[in-house]
Amino acid sequence: MNTKKIDPASNIQALKQFGEFGGVNPSITDSATFTFMTAKSMLDTFHGEAEGCFLYARHWNPSNKYLADALAAMEGTEAAWVTGSGMAAITTVFLQLCNAGDHIVSSMTTYGGTFAFLNNYLPKFNIDVTFVDTTDLEAVKKAIRPNTKLVYTETMSNPLLQISDIPALSEITKQHGIQLVVDNTFTPMIFAPYLMGADIVVYSMTKYINGKNDAVAGAICASNQFILDISDVNKGTAMLLGPVLDPLRSSNILKNMYTLHIRMKQHSKNALYLAERFEEIGLKYNYPGMPNHPQHELMKSLMNEEFGFGGMIAIDMETAERATQLMESMQLKNVGYHAVSLGYFRTLFSNSGKSTSSEVPVDIQKTMGMSPGLVRFSVGLDNDIEASYKLIKESLDEL
Ligand SMILES: *Cc1c(COP(=O)(O)O)cnc(C)c1O
Repeated sequence: MNTKKIDPASNIQALKQFGEFGGVNPSITDSATFTFMTAKSMLDTFHGEAEGCFLYARHWNPSNKYLADALAAMEGTEAAWVTGSGMAAITTVFLQLCNAGDHIVSSMTTYGGTFAFLNNYLPKFNIDVTFVDTTDLEAVKKAIRPNTKLVYTETMSNPLLQISDIPALSEITKQHGIQLVVDNTFTPMIFAPYLMGADIVVYSMTKYINGKNDAVAGAICASNQFILDISDVNKGTAMLLGPVLDPLRSSNILKNMYTLHIRMKQHSKNALYLAERFEEIGLKYNYPGMPNHPQHELMKSLMNEEFGFGGMIAIDMETAERATQLMESMQLKNVGYHAVSLGYFRTLFSNSGKSTSSEVPVDIQKTMGMSPGLVRFSVGLDNDIEASYKLIKESLDEL
């Protein structure tokens, strides 16, 4: 298996990014436009030929460049570009790679917004999508057509926590000369999809990467060429649709990236603790870190072990009513918050079918094996996870 390991945290630290006047943090560039000393250098920048020059902040700006460099260092890609949301990153990639008449093969289990874009929005442009179970490699192969431009999957899928075999999917896409695009939002640092053969890695930085739930942001990590293509002044999807991240936000997110490795380890440690307790009490749960998970061995063979199996865990309460009762009780006991999203320092929980996957029609929810009582936890950074578990157990016992 062609899985190269990476030391993402050290790669970020090695960047030695510092600010004007010796600031330990890079200076924030609070400018929408930039001066040029000569007319020629302005023209060259328009043509994408002036390395290190900034033209206009929608195209590039120094604060975003610092963050993009940190993301590229984390992923092992040549370059990156940062967007105003995860959806902006995902839709920019789709619209850059596909023309009218093209076709996409996508995992059936994706983030609800991604599913809605693929299923409801792309038909406007006559772009066809086939949804498959991407853990079934034969199904992926069968779905590829002559006009297929890309295969899209999530490394750890939302909300079922299935693990994609990125090296095997990459073999398939390379054979067909098409792109493999991977959403790694649930598992930064744990997986390095690009080094396993993905062509483009996208993130919602709203989640773990920022980790503070105070900003919406996204990222595209890819080759130099792809980043040049999306930011091209004449044809680039990012340049022309304008989903750029605000530089004040990107400077905040950059600082949070320097603690991401510590946070990922703690999220994983706490989630594994809960999984082990749920196993003991015979609760129906789903966590890739436990041997009963269908892709546990696959995950072990692909992951960067020091960061653990991630902070996402799901339990099955069978019905939406029981899920609601549990969540309301857990919130009263201050286990965490009944809220969508993930990667926060407090535990968040939601009923996927009624929230983040509600865009997915109920019959498809059934096909993909999603129970109406599924409660998805994004386990927080709790210092005393044993105490948190006791509160969860009290809430379970009250049902
Ligand atoms: C949240 C999320 C997105 C969308 O990101 P936004 O920042 O909310 O636009 C995409 N993919 C996954 C897996 C997500 O969890």
